Amino acid sequence: MKFIETLRLRSKLFLVFVLITVGLITVSILGTTYINNMKKNIDSLYFGSLIPITELNEILQTYHYELANSVYRVSRSDITPIEAKINIKSGLKKINKKWKSYASHFKRNDELDYVAYANLEINAANRYFSKIINAIDAQADMKKLSIVTLEKRVGTIHQVLQKLINYETQIANYERKTFIATYDNMLAQIGLILFLIIVTILSVSWYVFRSIQSDQTKLEIAAKKLKVANKKLENVSYTDSLTNLHNRRYFNFVYERELKRAKRNKTYITFMMLDIDFFKQYNDTYGHVEGDFALKSVAKVLKDTLKRPSDYVFRLGGEEFGVLLTDTDETHSARLARDIGDAIRARHIKHEGSKVHEYLTISIGVVCCIADDALDDDVLISRADEMLYEAKESGRDRYIITSNATTAKTA
Ligand code: GH3
Ligand code: MG
Ligand code: MG
Repeated sequence: MKFIETLRLRSKLFLVFVLITVGLITVSILGTTYINNMKKNIDSLYFGSLIPITELNEILQTYHYELANSVYRVSRSDITPIEAKINIKSGLKKINKKWKSYASHFKRNDELDYVAYANLEINAANRYFSKIINAIDAQADMKKLSIVTLEKRVGTIHQVLQKLINYETQIANYERKTFIATYDNMLAQIGLILFLIIVTILSVSWYVFRSIQSDQTKLEIAAKKLKVANKKLENVSYTDSLTNLHNRRYFNFVYERELKRAKRNKTYITFMMLDIDFFKQYNDTYGHVEGDFALKSVAKVLKDTLKRPSDYVFRLGGEEFGVLLTDTDETHSARLARDIGDAIRARHIKHEGSKVHEYLTISIGVVCCIADDALDDDVLISRADEMLYEAKESGRDRYIITSNATTAKTA
């Protein structure tokens, strides 16, 4: 049954379908054969036993009631010789016809000899009755007929025919017994075959359904794994590999979403653009590896300072970072920008190339306003960029904040 597991779902269901169909066809063929055999056997029982017995009985009755009776009654002048002749003639005709029909049925070998003997006796009896017809024709005296001879004739033929009837009855009984035994046997065979068919269909179906169930479970597990993998992939595609901050792709997505939300709710939205001061010199002095390390330190400061779940920190590219805050007013936004700058300076990352401080510093441009429908989608970015430029121009290591999305305001 291992091979079932290797089949596809469609093939598995097809297998069950084929099996059930084959089972039904086998049962139909068996049933038809069984009924046909039974018909044949009933037929042979009927023609082989019942008809011959009836015919023999009719012959016997004719001898008694038509022939012997007519002879007896004519001898007592109860009927006229003409009436007797008509009765005897029709009786003989009937007997000949019935005997011919009886003799034509199938006979067993052991029966043939006795049938031949019975034939001789019937001929002898018929000759006797034919002689009486001749006597009637010759207008002989019917009263002189020997009743003893008549009784002897009829007695003999009675014995012969009765013996045949007994024999045929025995055969009929035997046939009936054989018939019933055959059908008992056949019933047992059909029962066994049906049982085997049902067991096969049930066991294969059970395997198929179990295998389908296990396929289903595998499929569900695979789907779950795929979901987890997709989530991981999504995270990877939204994460900056150096700093583990959200990347620019994610920024584009979050920025649009949060801006829409703020516009809808008419709430504060803050965007900060951050750029490390004289980072080119830092790289030149300490090398790129140290530069990367410094970028990681800045990322850590940003993460540690902005802890609310609604605060978003991004690495927008190179040594530029972005911060997106919601529901934070100007005072709080300014305080956070100041805290970020202070915290970076407080990391004491030596920066000999900086013209503003002995340690690494950052400049921040901040825009904070209440969003409404009039707010242009890109203006926060361009205004933050302008504020950053101003911070750089006015000496670096500082933040500049504006609450006006069109006019800058120095903090
Ligand atoms: P300013 O104060 O005007 O910003 O001066 P700056 O030198 O920081 O200005 P600029 O933007 O021209 O220099 C950015 C430098 O940042 C250039 C590049 O060497 C460095 N940088 C950008 N991305 C990376 C990075 O992934 N790793 C490292 N180590 N350095 C980077
Ligand atoms: Mg830069
Ligand atoms: Mg820079």
